[in-house]
Amino acid sequence: MDQSPIHDIFIIGGGINGCGVARDAAGRGYSVCLAEMNDLASGTSSGSTKLIHGGLRYLEYYEFRLVRESLMEREVLWRMAPHIIRPMRFVLPHAEGLRPAWLLRLGLFLYDHIGGRKLLPPARTLDMKRDAAAKPLKPLFVAKAFEYSDCWVNDARLVVLNARDAADRGATIRTRARVVSARREDDRWRLGVEDVWSGEVEDVHARLIVNAAGPWVDRVLAGAVGQNDVHNVRLVKGSHIVVPKKFDDPRAYFFQNRDGRIIFAIPYETDFTLIGTTDQDLTAIPAQPASAMPRSHTCATRQANTSSSRCGARISCGPMPRCDRSTMTAPPRRRRRRAAMCSRPTSEPARR
Ligand SMILES: Cc1cc2nc3c(=O)[nH]c(=O)nc-3n(C[C@H](O)[C@H](O)[C@H](O)COP(=O)(O)OP(=O)(O)OC[C@H]3O[C@@H](n4cnc5c(N)ncnc54)[C@H](O)[C@@H]3O)c2cc1C
Repeated sequence: MDQSPIHDIFIIGGGINGCGVARDAAGRGYSVCLAEMNDLASGTSSGSTKLIHGGLRYLEYYEFRLVRESLMEREVLWRMAPHIIRPMRFVLPHAEGLRPAWLLRLGLFLYDHIGGRKLLPPARTLDMKRDAAAKPLKPLFVAKAFEYSDCWVNDARLVVLNARDAADRGATIRTRARVVSARREDDRWRLGVEDVWSGEVEDVHARLIVNAAGPWVDRVLAGAVGQNDVHNVRLVKGSHIVVPKKFDDPRAYFFQNRDGRIIFAIPYETDFTLIGTTDQDLTAIPAQPASAMPRSHTCATRQANTSSSRCGARISCGPMPRCDRSTMTAPPRRRRRRAAMCSRPTSEPARR
């Protein structure tokens, strides 16, 4: 008879959601096992724009509760991990024909006061005739600008620290371990976990599973769980290009684009600038997340906003699940439920 232990919770995926859930659950006394098919943070969680933010632009979608909760988490996270999270000021230039200045100011007022900001400095209006922030910008952007706070994070380290702490609290964290099957048997789940090096598949039992496979959520449901016709995620692509440093100012820029999207230009690792944008639909997950965009396209994007002409370096892009904060198609509570698809246990997991 199979004597292997039954875990309270089995988590599929070692990104920020999987490792965060593992840490939280282990801290509450549940026995936890997490399987990641590659390395920790090898998916979306190392390819983000690396911001701990409340989601300023989500205010436009009246997602006040979501923004408030995210802003509260922003300072909680900063307090917990100040060695990998630091405050960053963002310059938000106003440009003729785009969102009016009063709307930007109103949004920033809300962002400051909707809740959660205790330590970070508030937003302010910049005098672009004197402020150094105007220096690298085209004249189009130097009429008026605002400055506000968010935080920057080393995203992959945040994942690993969550996993490390989960393990310290008793969780089993397995990498190079792909979940290939998950079947319900009486009051438990029987999962097939494949060692991707040897190909050996081991049976693991759990009372509850959390599907934290990010953009692969549907693939896990269709492949491992055997569900037909699953369409829970809309894939959205973000693109980043890292170029030699474009400006000396420690502040980042947040540009509005004419198509409604936004573009960040963020000081990156001392000598570089990370330029990024998100929210382009994707039909399938690319086999290789780091991909190339035509050089002329990236140059055009950057030149649209700054006045310098040098360009080059590295591009990365990754998919986002529909349940991600930046997708506005479903109310937050429903999205959150989808983010961690749980199978309800037939009996309450025993607390240690
Ligand atoms: C371009 C871009 C910029 C972003 N910028 C920000 C930002 O600045 N701030 C912010 O807060 N958010 C940002 N996001 C969103 C954020 O990155 C994601 O919401 C988050 O990383 C999702 O984490 P996850 O754990 O759900 O997914 P992932 O990090 O993708 O993790 C899922 C994991 O599941 C694993 N997996 C899949 N199938 C299996 C299986 N069968 N067995 C075992 N493991 C499996 C994968 O290998 C992967 O590691 C951005 C997203 C993108 C794409």
